[in-house]
Amino acid sequence: MSHTPVTRALFDQVMVPNYAPAAIIPVRGEGSRLWDQDGREYIDFAGGIAVTGLGHAHPALVAALTEQAQKLWHVSNVLTNEPALRLAERLCELTFAERVFFANSGAEANEAALKLARKYSADHFGADKREIIAFTQSFHGRTLFTVTVGGQPKYTEGFEPLPPGIRHVPFNDLAACAAAISERTCAVILEPVQGEGGVTPATPEFLQGVRALCDRHQALLIFDEVQCGNGRSGHLYAYQGYGVIPDILTTAKGIGGGFPISAMLTTAAIAHSLGVGSHGTTYGGNPLGCAVAGAALAIFSDPAVLAGVHHKHALFRAGLERINQRFAVFSELRGMGLLLGCQLSPAWHGRSRDFIKAALDEGLLILVAGPDVIRLAPSLIIADELIEQGLQRFEQAIARLCA
Ligand SMILES: *Cc1c(COP(=O)(O)O)cnc(C)c1O
Repeated sequence: MSHTPVTRALFDQVMVPNYAPAAIIPVRGEGSRLWDQDGREYIDFAGGIAVTGLGHAHPALVAALTEQAQKLWHVSNVLTNEPALRLAERLCELTFAERVFFANSGAEANEAALKLARKYSADHFGADKREIIAFTQSFHGRTLFTVTVGGQPKYTEGFEPLPPGIRHVPFNDLAACAAAISERTCAVILEPVQGEGGVTPATPEFLQGVRALCDRHQALLIFDEVQCGNGRSGHLYAYQGYGVIPDILTTAKGIGGGFPISAMLTTAAIAHSLGVGSHGTTYGGNPLGCAVAGAALAIFSDPAVLAGVHHKHALFRAGLERINQRFAVFSELRGMGLLLGCQLSPAWHGRSRDFIKAALDEGLLILVAGPDVIRLAPSLIIADELIEQGLQRFEQAIARLCA
């Protein structure tokens, strides 16, 4: 084999072209900073798309991973393991949940939740209660079932035939949900804060109203907290801030702080429908992922860390408003905790990716949520000074775009 230098150009020669990564390749991270192959430093406001909620190479996570790596990596679900049991117990203590299922990604957690909802319905109500209601602009993953449940048609185009029995209604529109729900509905799934679809928090009235509709029609309410969970909203899980309790909650992204692990939480009565042999995954609940997530959960469930998220939200808000007073590129600032969305003003519509590129040139990593929204999802424990420094870089990037 020839030894091609590992450059961005190699990506186009060896990788399936479903991603379009930036020109640089990061090789090291520490806290909220990354360094590329040339040693250039970047401030990280992207967090690996809302994943590295405790920054890069957090000492407690590194310790948990390396300690577990020396003991036991994998035993399969033919056996259970200590890190998985400890993590599940802690999740039950900290949430509404009484039972936990582990998987490896957000899509898999949602796949489990949707299958469970169908199975629960089949067990209790028979064959006619199969319909799933989801919302436009929602995102639930890329397996065929979850991508079909997601509310962005561009992600299902060309993948037909799609699984049937799924309806979409506008988000935050309680009347539309009330009109769509019926005795045929087995579940309603939503993100309390829509992430990929534009960083849109649900209104409290909407969540309360959907909960009441689900109760009236004996439909399960599934909250997809893959992105907004794990402290990102300033609450351990966003539902706790709203005071609206789901029947099933899925989470992934931040729960492992960068190690792939996801979880589906539910009650004992509902979990009963996933009996022995009904569902499974080889790696779900593996000791490595659960050890890391256990260490991460201990930190991001700390009330001081959650209070810090609210404080840092205010710093971001103030900084972004200051930038916008100068350049007027945003028509609205949205979001919750450290999941922030900057809606681009009409003159900049369709150009969110230009902001990513300009920020990268200034040594700052940011995200988009569609063509018209800039999304920020930094570490929950990013230092206040680094927020200021990153916002300065953002301002410089915008100044150059506007020049
Ligand atoms: C990222 C995301 C998913 C999919 O997670 P994967 O780990 O990419 O499968 C599902 N739901 C929401 C809300 C997400 O943000």
